[in-house]
Amino acid sequence: MTSTTGFDVAVVGGGVMGCTIALHLARGGMRVAVLERHGLCTQASGINAGTLSMQHPPHPALVPYALGGRDLWRTSGDWLGAEIGFRERGGLVLAFTDEEAEALETRMAERKAAGSPIEVVSAGRAREIEPGLSKHPILASYCALDGFANSSLIGSAFRTALNGASAEVHERSPVTAIEKTGDGFAIHAAGSVGSVIQARRVVLATGVWSAQPLKWLGLAGPIGFVSNQMAVSERMDRVVSRMLGVVAGNLSLKQVDNGTVLIGGGWQGLGHPEKEGTAILRHNLIGNLRMARHAVPALGDVRIVRTWLGYRDDTPDRLPLVGPLPGVEGAFLIVGVRDGFTVGPFMGKVLADFMLGREPEQPLFDPARLVVAVPS
Ligand SMILES: Cc1cc2nc3c(=O)[nH]c(=O)nc-3n(C[C@H](O)[C@H](O)[C@H](O)COP(=O)(O)OP(=O)(O)OC[C@H]3O[C@@H](n4cnc5c(N)ncnc54)[C@H](O)[C@@H]3O)c2cc1C
Repeated sequence: MTSTTGFDVAVVGGGVMGCTIALHLARGGMRVAVLERHGLCTQASGINAGTLSMQHPPHPALVPYALGGRDLWRTSGDWLGAEIGFRERGGLVLAFTDEEAEALETRMAERKAAGSPIEVVSAGRAREIEPGLSKHPILASYCALDGFANSSLIGSAFRTALNGASAEVHERSPVTAIEKTGDGFAIHAAGSVGSVIQARRVVLATGVWSAQPLKWLGLAGPIGFVSNQMAVSERMDRVVSRMLGVVAGNLSLKQVDNGTVLIGGGWQGLGHPEKEGTAILRHNLIGNLRMARHAVPALGDVRIVRTWLGYRDDTPDRLPLVGPLPGVEGAFLIVGVRDGFTVGPFMGKVLADFMLGREPEQPLFDPARLVVAVPS
């Protein structure tokens, strides 16, 4: 086994978080290695619904990060060197019952106060905004900034950008152990690295798989997950122009440029990130499709051509863990950013700026509030 030395930073995990951090650190003059078990952005970051919603951040504190992320995807040609199908369509979030209407008003008031340009609109106004809507919603909220992008395009864009910035990218290279050494870390990886990488700092950008990497550093944190089910329809004539969300259950749907309708979130599928195999739960999928049809009647006869499931990371307080790890000098964590496709490029830049000694545009989310040392 060979040893590769002299890296300023090793980034473990090549999703949107790891890739963004690595890109900014490399452009900031650091010698960076990215170690990714599969391909860049092939897990949550490359199989998500691509929704960029300013109404959806799970916590109001994340609104400025969502606005920042949306802006970065809108201008991805400038900083990433590639367009990734950004579309601004405007989005409606729907309430069907009095209870949901109350929840919608509270939720949107908080997000509006945090900076999202959201208006709560009557059901009639919502139908003017989106004529495809059914008569069932009793209240809605609208944000003109909502849109989507094509997450399947970001892996190759990051690969090109990282190579251009002279970062060393190792795909199909699972990290199997991390040891603290005198002046940094020894990162053991298989696959295309086939060696031990020595780096002065390490960033864990390992998404729902972060329990083991934290354990190697003598730490533990309550990083949970949800199993999002996705469904895509056959191509249809246009049935819906806006992004639609449902306040209860977090279901979202959109019709993209090729006419297919993407329905995601809602009732979950079956699986565990640390175990083999996942299963789409048929009754939950049918529930999601029924809900979509309840919102847009023209989806009544829709045929679903593909389904898939992916893991989305979560934390108990719905805030991410982004910053230096407690008690392990030189180690950093970025995880638990639930709307991580939207927020990702901005959150990654915030942590990279901090590591480069620059003033980040927004604060970090101290991992020490939830991550603790565990006896070895
Ligand atoms: C089905 C689905 C739909 C979603 N829809 C949306 C949406 O519409 N809008 C939105 O904003 N967000 C959405 N999300 C959430 C968003 O995709 C995630 O929050 C975001 O991609 C997380 O990025 P990440 O880089 O932290 O994680 P990931 O993309 O999962 O990256 C982590 C990487 O770490 C690698 N890794 C782990 N352990 C190791 C190891 N030991 N060695 C090497 N590599 C390792 C993994 O292989 C993986 O590539 C969705 C998520 C899913 C699953």
